[in-house]
Amino acid sequence: MNNARQKNLFSADHTEEGPYPWELAEASDQLTASIVFNRPLETVYMYLVPEALRDILQPGQRVRAPFGRGDRPTIGFCVDLGPPPKSSRLLKSLESVIDNEPLLSPKMLELTRWIADRYLCGWGQVLESVVPAGVKKKAGTRVVRFFQLTENFDAATKLPPKQQAVVEVLRSAEEPLEAEELTNKAGCGISPINTLRKKGIIQAVRQRTTSWTVEFDLIEKVDDLQLNNDQQQSLSFICDALRAKRHETLLLHGVTGSGKTEVYIQAIREVVSYGKQAIVLVPEISLTPQTIRQFRSRFDNVAVLHSHLSDAERHWQWQQIARGSVQVVVGARSAIFAPLANLGLIVIDEEHETTFKQETVPRYHAREVARRRAEMENIPLILGSATPTLEAWQDAHENRSRLITMDKRIENRPMPPVVIVDVRNDPHSQKGEGIGRALGNAMRMALSDNGQIILFLNVRGFAPALWCRACGESLRCPDCDITLTWHKDRQFALCHSCDYNTVPSNRCPSCGHSGMRMIGMGTQRLEAEVKAKFPGVKCLRMDSDSMSKPGSHDAALERFRHGEVPVLLGTQMIAKGLDFPNVTLVGVVDADTILHQPDLRATERTFQLISQVAGRTGRSSRGGRVLVQTCCPTEPAILKAAEHDYVGFVQPELAHRKEFQSPPFRKLARIILRGPNERDLQQQSQIFADTLQKKINEMESPACLLGPAPAPITRLKANYRYHIQLSATELEPLQQLWRAAVPELQKKVNVEFIVDVDPVSMR
Ligand SMILES: [Zn+2]
Ligand SMILES: [Zn+2]
Repeated sequence: MNNARQKNLFSADHTEEGPYPWELAEASDQLTASIVFNRPLETVYMYLVPEALRDILQPGQRVRAPFGRGDRPTIGFCVDLGPPPKSSRLLKSLESVIDNEPLLSPKMLELTRWIADRYLCGWGQVLESVVPAGVKKKAGTRVVRFFQLTENFDAATKLPPKQQAVVEVLRSAEEPLEAEELTNKAGCGISPINTLRKKGIIQAVRQRTTSWTVEFDLIEKVDDLQLNNDQQQSLSFICDALRAKRHETLLLHGVTGSGKTEVYIQAIREVVSYGKQAIVLVPEISLTPQTIRQFRSRFDNVAVLHSHLSDAERHWQWQQIARGSVQVVVGARSAIFAPLANLGLIVIDEEHETTFKQETVPRYHAREVARRRAEMENIPLILGSATPTLEAWQDAHENRSRLITMDKRIENRPMPPVVIVDVRNDPHSQKGEGIGRALGNAMRMALSDNGQIILFLNVRGFAPALWCRACGESLRCPDCDITLTWHKDRQFALCHSCDYNTVPSNRCPSCGHSGMRMIGMGTQRLEAEVKAKFPGVKCLRMDSDSMSKPGSHDAALERFRHGEVPVLLGTQMIAKGLDFPNVTLVGVVDADTILHQPDLRATERTFQLISQVAGRTGRSSRGGRVLVQTCCPTEPAILKAAEHDYVGFVQPELAHRKEFQSPPFRKLARIILRGPNERDLQQQSQIFADTLQKKINEMESPACLLGPAPAPITRLKANYRYHIQLSATELEPLQQLWRAAVPELQKKVNVEFIVDVDPVSMR
C-alpha cells in the first residue's frame, strides 16, 4: 500500500478523537511510537514507526503524523517507543521525524508528564511550552556544506592542475572545509570542486553550525565572602543534604539583608566541586545585570535565561547548558526547564513572588515543578525569602520541608525603624497629594543629610481614574470592567488589562458635564509632585512605562547607585533585592493599594510588599528609616510588617485561613468561564456547576464546589467572566473529579472555560 492510498482510506470518517485504525499490527517486530499533540487532551496516540524511521526516532523528538479531521499532518512529540499494544488495533504510520536529536531527556519527559497531570492540561501542551521556540527552530544556526576526500581517492590519479590543487588542500587539511575556504586556499573557482565531486573524488557533508555566539563582558572574579554564624549554619544544613544525596526542601527564611545570596553561592560552589550544576530561579524583575554580575563574578560559566533573549540567543544558551559547559543557570520561571544533565541543586530566591506561577497554559508553579524535579534527581531544593508564602511556611511546620532561619542582618545591622503614618487627617492627603506632612518632612531631612530616598507606589500612570463630579461615573474601558488610567506623558487614558487607549474629551461620556477630575495617585503624578515640592532635586521614576527599553532599568539603577539622583520612585520594580547603602529613607506612599483587593492573599501580599520595600534601607552604617502612609493604621499586615515580625503576622493569618478553609489548608482549582453574552454565560456557568456537582455526588468526592459567581473582573477584553471554585484537602480528588467530568462538560456546555490548579490570581 502506498502512503497516499492509506490516507484516502481514512480521511472519510476520521474524527478529532484520534487516529483511525488502518493497518493491523501483525508482526511483533513492529515498533510503535506514543505521540502527544499540542491539544488540551490527555490522550497519548499510538502510531506505527515506518522502517525508514526506526533508527532515527527517539523519545523527545518531534514528528509529523496524520491527525484530526482530514488526517492533516500534525506536529507532535514522541514520548515513548515500544511494541504495538496487545489489542490488535489498527494503527496509522508516522510521516516523518523533525528533529535530529531529542529536544528533551527522558527525565524531562517524565517531569512534563507530571505537570500535565497535576495542572490538568495536555502533555503535548506542556511540551510545546517548555521547549523554547528558538530551540525548536534552531535559531541562529545554519546548515553548511563541507568538503572532504572520499574513500575512492587515489593519490596516483592524474588530475588537471586546479583540481590537483583542491585535492592537495584537502589532503593537508585536518577537517572538512567549507567551499569558500577551499576555493581560497586552492586559488580556484567552484568548478574544479564540482568536477571532482562528479568524479567521486571528493564529497560534500552537511553540518549545522552556529552562526552566532554570545559575547560576555569580562567580569573580574571575586572571592567568596566570609560567612557569619547564621550563614555558616545555613550552609552546613544545605551541604548535609547535598552530601546525603537525597531530596530535601529547605526553607531559608532570612530577613532582608541577612545575606541569603552568599549562602546560595557557597552552596553552589560545593555542588560545582562535585562536577554538578545548579539552577537559581529569581523573579524576572530581579534578573538585573547586578544579579547576573554577582553570579558571573563567582562562577566560570553562568547561563542566563530570561524573557528578553532573542531566539538565537536562547537556542545558544540552551545548547551550552545541554552540552554540560555551564555551571549555573540563573533565570526566571521557565529556567526550571533548563536541560542540565547533571543537576545538583535548585534554588528559588524570593519564593513568595507571584510571578513564579505561569498564568497561561500550562498554569504551573515553578516552586512545585522545582520540588518535583529535585525529588526525581534526589537533590535539595532551597526556597529563600524574607516573607515566605503561607504555603511554604506551613510545609515547614508540617515537616515536609526543613526551616532554616536567619533572623539577623549581616554585621548585626539593625532592621530599619518603620513608622506608620495615619494619613486620614493629613492636610496634604486630603488635597489629594501623595506626600503627606510627615513624609515631606522626613524627605527634607534625608536630603539635607545627603541621604537618598526611595518612594514606593504600586500604581503606574498619572491617575488611576477619571471621575465625573456631576454623576459620579468614571471613565471605563469599553472592553473591560476596569477604570482607565490617565497617562500624562502620553496624553491618553489606558486600560491596564487590555491596553485599550483613548484621548478622552473633557466632557463626561455619561452625563455630558464638563470637567472630569483625576482621582488617585500614580507614579507619574507622584513624580510631578516631588518635582514641585523639591525644586532642583533630581528624581527618577521606575515603572514598566519608563523602563520599557532594554537596558534602561540597569542604567537607571546605576545612576541612583552612583548618587547622581537622590530620589528614586517607582512600582514593585524597586522593591526587589536592590542594595543601596546610601538610602536612608524609604516612603511607602500608599500601603492600602493591595489591601482591599478581593483576593484571599491580599493581606499576605500587603505584608510582603511593605516588608520587602522596608528592607531597601538601613543597609550600611548610615542606618535608615521607613515611613508607611496608610488609611488603615490598625491593619495587622501593616503593623506586623512595621515591626519586622513575620511570625507575628503569619500565626493569626494561618489561623484565619484555617477557619475559612482556604489555602494552604485546602487545595483549590478555579474554573473561569467566559463568553460575549452575560446572560448566556450565566446560564452556561450554572449548567457547568450543576454538572460538576452531580459528578461530585456520583463519585462521593470530598470536593466542595463554590459558585458560579461573576469573577472580580467580570468583563475583560470584551468577554464576560464567571468563575467556579473547587476545593478539597488534597489535590487528587479535584484532579479525579475534573478528569471524570470533562467529557460531559464539553458536551453540555457551550462556552470557553479554563481550569487553574493552585490559582494565585483571583481576578
Ligand atoms: Zn457625568
Ligand atoms: Zn480593557
